Amino acid sequence: MPLREDLADDLAAAVRTPEIFAVYQPQVSLESGSIVAAEALCRWRHPQLGDIDPVTMIEVAERTGVIHELGRRMLDECLDTLRDWRGMGRAWAVTVNVSPAQFEDDSFGGHVADQFARRGFGPGSLVLELSHDSPSIDEGAALPQLRLLRDRGVEISLGDYGMDTVAPERLRRLPLTEVKIPGHLVRSVESGTRSSLHDEVERAHADGLRVVAEGIETLTHLDIAVQLGCDRAQGFLIREPDAEIVFP
Ligand code: C2E
Ligand code: MG
Repeated sequence: MPLREDLADDLAAAVRTPEIFAVYQPQVSLESGSIVAAEALCRWRHPQLGDIDPVTMIEVAERTGVIHELGRRMLDECLDTLRDWRGMGRAWAVTVNVSPAQFEDDSFGGHVADQFARRGFGPGSLVLELSHDSPSIDEGAALPQLRLLRDRGVEISLGDYGMDTVAPERLRRLPLTEVKIPGHLVRSVESGTRSSLHDEVERAHADGLRVVAEGIETLTHLDIAVQLGCDRAQGFLIREPDAEIVFP
């Protein structure tokens, strides 16, 4: 793997090219078994180095400030995809990952809300997913932007739920609609036993939040997601992220 410094220039150029694109991983409703949404994940196919690890790409993008352009690029692409899905008669929502750094640009929330409104999609069609490791996401510039987005029909999801990294009172300050339990936590629950995750799911439901179980790789994991009372599931068992969602 090349040095991150070497990747920075390439990334700044690639963000305007088809080297960078979105893939989508479906989420199924555990009530109906149907696809109800899909998470967009960015991919970078470097012409010399091949596929670059998304975590590395996002780290470089955040450090160099390219995250703002990458974020806009992903959002545009996802709204186009949403239009295509509606054209195919699919009512799926799209979830877009957002870095805390994107809120440093005060106009970010308004820009997203405007793009969303201009396209005329219904409330809940677009979900912005925040990572929990953003220490000040409930303070400063982010909170008013999140509230504006929520008022304008964009849903807000928080990843890495159940890791005890965000105190419940801080969590309640965020205008969330959804929390996502990371795959390694779901997979750590022993089938048929009650764990602290059951309480976390109950707490989220009591706060009116939808709960998504990520990283579902086997039927046992799927069963655990059901036992936990999760609303939705996502993972390799259901489908790997892909450029298109092939619908049977
Ligand atoms: P994340 O948001 O937690 O995304 C889930 C990751 O788990 C994805 O890795 C996905 O490919 C992988 N995954 C899906 N199903 C399974 C499964 O059943 N088992 C296992 N072990 N893994 C599964 P990926 O695509 O490498 O993305 C890594 C991280 O990069 C994401 O983690 C997210 O934090 C970040 N990321 C990806 N795309 C974007 C983006 O457009 N913007 C921002 N800001 N971050 C992004
Ligand atoms: Mg995610």
